[in-house]
Amino acid sequence: MIDTHAHVAATWEGAEYPGGTAGVLARAAAAGVEHVICVGAGGDAAEMASAVACARTFAGVSAITGIHPHDAKNVDAALWKLVQEMCAHPEVVAVGETGLDFHYDSSPRDVQVAVFRQHIQLARALHKPLCIHTREAEDLTLQILREERAEEVGGVIHCFSGTCAFGLAALELGFYLSIPGIVTFKKAGEIVETVVQAPLDRLLVETDSPFLAPIPYRGKRNEPAYVVETLKKMAEVKGLSVAEVERATNANAVRLFGPRLLAKLAPES
Ligand SMILES: [Zn+2]
Ligand SMILES: [Zn+2]
Repeated sequence: MIDTHAHVAATWEGAEYPGGTAGVLARAAAAGVEHVICVGAGGDAAEMASAVACARTFAGVSAITGIHPHDAKNVDAALWKLVQEMCAHPEVVAVGETGLDFHYDSSPRDVQVAVFRQHIQLARALHKPLCIHTREAEDLTLQILREERAEEVGGVIHCFSGTCAFGLAALELGFYLSIPGIVTFKKAGEIVETVVQAPLDRLLVETDSPFLAPIPYRGKRNEPAYVVETLKKMAEVKGLSVAEVERATNANAVRLFGPRLLAKLAPES
């Protein structure tokens, strides 16, 4: 199994895992997780650096770096220069998470849009895929992806929890959908429907740890080790075996993010 989106080296309060990053990765390996993509996308350089360091320290870990839409207001010339430097590192397999979050509106919407466009332009310059975060901004997200020709590099709609129509439109643009633990919740109708309709070769799986733990861990701090619960649910709604969905989502992750994803977590990481 590959957890394509987990904040396992995050520097903010509430993200501390028992045993730290080494502990959470060891538990993931013991649960059968082979690779984790560590996302470093807060509002400063420290968080990006922590993700790159994590990918350098631990076998079976890659990184995604960028500035989260919540923190778009922090981006100035100096920070943007650091984003460019971070994203160029070979350990970094995608640019993000970037996009639009009009639910929390933590940054002004016009600033989120401008910083989102910058990330897409950077991804195209680096020939790396995008990791997209979008909430209550589906139409504008699609519009900007099209205007900025994001399909040239593709990417993933991370923590997919939108409408089925949005999911299908993103697939049409060449993007993958990464399914989070939310799909195990009772009111996940649209996500379940999207998993049913999406081709198996375009789905990924993620935890978005430490958030959004799947059932039966709902409400607890999420960990990559729990990604199997999401895979089980996807297999159930697709009418396939867990092994088939695991094989397909692993292959999809390697196809999107590159051969670095073949490196495996060490049992004693
Ligand atoms: Zn996100
Ligand atoms: Zn995230």
